[in-house]
Order: sequence, then structure tokens, then C-alpha cells
Amino acid sequence: MSVQMSEQTVWLRGATVVTMNAQWDVLEGDVLVEDGRIVALGEVAESRAGQARQVDARGCVVVPGFVQAHIHLCQTLMRNNADDMVLIDWLKKRIWPYEAALSFEELSVSARVGLAELVRGGTTSILDMGTVNHSDAIGEAVERAGIRAHIGKCMMDFGDEIPGPLFEDTAESLRQSLELYKTWNGAAQGRIRYAFAPRFAVCCTERLLREVSEAAADLGCHIHTHSSETAYENEFTMAHYGVNNIEFLRRVGMTGPRSVFAHGVHVTDAECQILAETKTAVCHCPSSNLKLASGIANMPRYDRLGVRVALGADGAPCNNNLDAFIEMRLAALIQKPIHGPQSMPARRVLQLATIDGARAIGIDDEVGSIELGKYADLVVLDLDSDPGCGPTGDVYSRVVYAAQKHNVKHVFASGRQLVDGGELVGVDVGELMAEGRVANRAVLERMQQYVTS
Ligand SMILES: [Zn+2]
Repeated sequence: MSVQMSEQTVWLRGATVVTMNAQWDVLEGDVLVEDGRIVALGEVAESRAGQARQVDARGCVVVPGFVQAHIHLCQTLMRNNADDMVLIDWLKKRIWPYEAALSFEELSVSARVGLAELVRGGTTSILDMGTVNHSDAIGEAVERAGIRAHIGKCMMDFGDEIPGPLFEDTAESLRQSLELYKTWNGAAQGRIRYAFAPRFAVCCTERLLREVSEAAADLGCHIHTHSSETAYENEFTMAHYGVNNIEFLRRVGMTGPRSVFAHGVHVTDAECQILAETKTAVCHCPSSNLKLASGIANMPRYDRLGVRVALGADGAPCNNNLDAFIEMRLAALIQKPIHGPQSMPARRVLQLATIDGARAIGIDDEVGSIELGKYADLVVLDLDSDPGCGPTGDVYSRVVYAAQKHNVKHVFASGRQLVDGGELVGVDVGELMAEGRVANRAVLERMQQYVTS
């Protein structure tokens, strides 16, 4: 009890605190954390702080832990091995054979490498797409990493080019998902939640999507899928169901306030209206959309219509980083040549990467901003000592346009310190990378049996 208390009781002193609250307050002062939650902000008296462990944050900027609402922890070992292809080739020739070949142990290493990168870069909440098999490996890795995550087994029950180990029977896919829900929803003191993850309309039957929608509604669970990343998805749903992709997803019950659609690049005005009306969130993945040549999501239109939006790095093989700073910078820059310099300002982008992401995955009452009572998911950035971030200027500009992950000095999740002085706490990175190299070689060799063309 006392160990737990002291671990999650922290007094951050002398920082610039970018709260991301509804008033956009930026405070000079302290953050006091007790039992993992924020209990005082600004001026904190010594008598109030008591025995809390002190962390000197003078000259530092504190922001909420980043939320990435579309991640594939399972793909990390495939980084730098699936480049310069369009989505469908990338999936069929590289990613699906790789995911088909992954063992439980390799998936575990993949998840731990991905989590190490995410945590080191200040990400403290994710929505993960998972893979078809061995999903417990991801749950266990997330539990150990100390962050907050919605995890889900990827579901695939349609298509003739899916490798055997990924191709599922519809009822069995649902049964396994419900089993995983029972194991993981609410696990790790509530840090882990379950989200159903049918991969995308192209490799799921209509029956699967309808049953997922019903199960998720019954259980109050999130639904996580890819949507309208490429024009092909619209061609597919038009050919099979006579409507565009998002119209089809609404028809089968997949839209709603607990749904997150990754990408949303090829979307009509009418479909934007559906997203707005149903409060379905879109997770913007700018690096992935550029690298796979999918296009550029019209984020200003989503903002204009009141569509919920979030930000995510997607998977390591289509990025090739899981870095919130890169996604923030790109999210801002790629809109400007199209929609003008003010279309996606720094402050709006930081909102995407924090409170908006939290709202998309339904945890905005717990994290996403630095406010009294919320969990202390905090990132301490050392900007003042970096010539590349200063010497001074608008704090949102510094964080979004100038800062990089090397500026992350400390990371806390529920008050527990996960990064200390730029180093991951309790992770031997050298050992992890060595494990990653071995696993990577093994899976790359084994996946060849699933490569068909
Ligand atoms: Zn994805």
C-alpha cells in the first residue's frame, strides 16, 4: 500500500502547464499528484504537498499524455520491411503474410517494442487494432507497460487472398472476441478496455459487422475499424452493397459515439454528415496516408461539420514511426497548401493529440487534459535547453512545430513514472531490441509460406 502510494504521489514543480482544458488555460506552477490523480494545480504549498516525491520541472512544459487512436502494436517487427507500396499490395504481399506467421512470443516482442517507442515519445493512451491470433500477448504487454489502452482482436472472415491463419469462421471470430472481452475489459485497474476490431469492410462479412455492432452495443464497447482509407473500399462496397463505405457501415450499425474509424480519406459530403450525426470519430493518420499514397484526409471539413477527430500513427510498417510529434507536425502542415495556413493551427493539433483523442475513445473524463480529479497522464518536455525549440515563443507552436520526441524528459501514467530523464523506467532497451532482431528474422523467414504473389 505505502509503496503504491509513494510511487503515484508526485509534486511536479515550477513548470509551464498546458492544461488543454476547455478554457485553454496555461499555468505557471506545479502539478500535485496523489494516488495517480491530479489533486492540485498552480501554486502548491509545501504543507499541501506533504511527503510527495518532488520532480524539478523548472524550464519545462507539461502537456497531457498523448492519445493515439489508431495503432497496430502487432506490426512493429515489420518496420522497414514493407515500404513504397499501395495499401492493397502492402496488405496482401507483406502485412497479412507477416501477421499470419506471428507466434505468441513474436507478437509479444512486437508489442513491447512498439510500447517502448510510444511511451518514450510521450504517448500514454492508445486504441490498438490487434491481430487475429494470440491477442493475450498484447494485453499482457500493455498491462506491463503501464499505459492505458483499448485493445481488440482483429476480425477477418471474408476474402480469398487472406492467409489461412488469419481467415476466420464468423461465429468463432465473435466467440473469441467475447472471450477476450471477458479477460481484458477493465483489466489492469481499468487501464485496459476491450474494443471490437473488424479490420475493414473489404475483409469482413456483412453478418460479422452486424453481429459486432450488436455485441458492442450490448456491452457498451468501442468499435475500431479502418474506413475509407483508399478509393478501393468505396468501389468494393458499391459493387457488393450498392453504397459508399461509410453509408454501408452505418447500414450495418457500425457508426456511433463509441466507434472509431481510422483514416477517413475518401469520404463524400453526405458521409461526413453521417459521421457528424452519429458522433462517429475519425482517426487521422497523416504519415500512413502519405506513405501508402492513400491521400490527405480533409480535416478542416470534419472540423467545420463537427465530426469527432483524433490522431494516430497507425502501424510501424506504414509510417515508419509511432511518434506523436511527427503526426502532430504533419497533421498541421499537410492541410496548409490545400486549405490555407490557418486551417490547422498548432493549438488545434495539440487538442487532436490529447483531449480529442481521449474523447474519441471515451476516456475524456479520465485523461486528455490536465485538470483536477483526472488521472495524472503527463509529459514533461524540456524545451528551454534545446536550441531547436527556443529560446521562447508561443507554447503550442513550440510543442507542435518545433519539439521532437527527444524533448520528452519525463512521462507519467496514472502518476506512475514511465520515463525518467529520457530513459524508460524498468525496460532494458538493449535487451528488448536484441529480442526484436531475433524475432524479426524468424518471422520474416516463416512468413514466406504465406506470400502468394
Ligand atoms: Zn491501420
